Amino acid sequence: MSNKRRLFVDFDLTLVDSIKAYADTYNIMFKDHPDFTPADPKMITEYDFSCICPLLTNKEDKKAMWNNPVFFDVLQFIDNDTLPVLKRLHEKYELIICTIGTPSNLALKALWLKDNLPFIDNYILINNGNCEMSKSIVNMRGAIQIDDIPSNLEGNSEIKILFGKEYPWNRGWYGERCLNWKSVEKRLLFAEKDRME
Ligand SMILES: [Mg+2]
Repeated sequence: MSNKRRLFVDFDLTLVDSIKAYADTYNIMFKDHPDFTPADPKMITEYDFSCICPLLTNKEDKKAMWNNPVFFDVLQFIDNDTLPVLKRLHEKYELIICTIGTPSNLALKALWLKDNLPFIDNYILINNGNCEMSKSIVNMRGAIQIDDIPSNLEGNSEIKILFGKEYPWNRGWYGERCLNWKSVEKRLLFAEKDRME
């Protein structure tokens, strides 16, 4: 077991740009449909994507996008600093990816993580009923947690950081916030160093 402090990192919209991947997948799948207009990730207002992907008319089709291999082919880190900052954080912290999904989504996520973040050994893949946004079944005592959904931060982690831009589904968070991975680095590497000097 590592002596480093644990840092639990969320997957969708914290490590990776899931909104862009969802829109790109939709644009590939529906490009030949007569009523197709390209989905623009910047226009999103709700997390079920109806606003930018109107040809996905039922719940099952919307859900299936998260298990589509195309989604994981086009999926990218959320910003250009994500990978280099994670590598630097890995020196100091025990990184653990903690994410919620369905079994098929989690299987593809695990493979994406193995290919794209080979230096991270630990994943916690949560399948909790109907993908309820809660990670409280994981013991994060003493740890730092980064996530883009406020309800996922309601467990027992010691330092809670809400990641990313403000969206309708993450309003109402009054705790710490980091807009991007540069500010995560500043908060978790540089700020601690300043305090020690
Ligand atoms: Mg997330």
